[in-house]
Amino acid sequence: MPTDRNSSFLRGPAKAPAHIRAALHSDMGNPATELGGELESDIALHDAGDLPLAECAGDDALIEQAVSRALAAGQAPLLLGGDHSITLPSLRAFARTYPRLSILHIDAHPDLYHELLGNPRSHASPFARIMEERLAQRLVQVGIRTLNAHQRQQVARFGVEVVPMRGFTPHHVPKLPGAVYISVDLDGLDPAFAPGVSHHEPGGLSVREVMDVFARLADSQVVGADVVELNPDRDLNGMTAVVAAKLAKELAALLARDS
Ligand code: MN
Ligand code: MN
Repeated sequence: MPTDRNSSFLRGPAKAPAHIRAALHSDMGNPATELGGELESDIALHDAGDLPLAECAGDDALIEQAVSRALAAGQAPLLLGGDHSITLPSLRAFARTYPRLSILHIDAHPDLYHELLGNPRSHASPFARIMEERLAQRLVQVGIRTLNAHQRQQVARFGVEVVPMRGFTPHHVPKLPGAVYISVDLDGLDPAFAPGVSHHEPGGLSVREVMDVFARLADSQVVGADVVELNPDRDLNGMTAVVAAKLAKELAALLARDS
């Protein structure tokens, strides 16, 4: 998903796909996942390449069509790179196949702004649009540490279930029976683990805590996922790209388990 046109503060996430790919295929590591399966032998991870996004409103349709086609072909889409605005067209496609979908959303920010800087498609707004369009039955947000008054109202308006960072343990994340889409904004992690993001928000999740949150989905059906907001311009020694690749690998294992 090479796009960052709906970013509010810094550009950069359009460059993410190449960095995630390089980390995923680097000889530095091996293809084993924590669930047991291995990428090349047990998990058929097919790289569909970069979508030709063109900095225009048509990008949304392109993303939605690509996800729809993958779902129609019986695949489990995993969207990598880009800013968080890509989750809206992805979910428009998922909602048609999975009308009772739950979303597990990991982020420092609730991304529920009605609009930001005059842009209703801002990367700070996708979950307002998703809930207005009723694309999910439940939205569970984990890692949140920036709730302001406006977004508190949006949480109440849309019935969002927020698991705040304050007092966090993985057991606060509810079990989600049925179909689940996982959306990971890398700034949900602490900047100590993931510095390569546009918005540093201290006091976040560790990589291990994210894995513990995924483990809460042992009885769910994970049907799709995205990993967004990697900003390679801000990364240090490529460490955030490695985290993004690690999460992509573990998400692929969950998708392979459940599809
Ligand atoms: Mn965020
Ligand atoms: Mn976000």
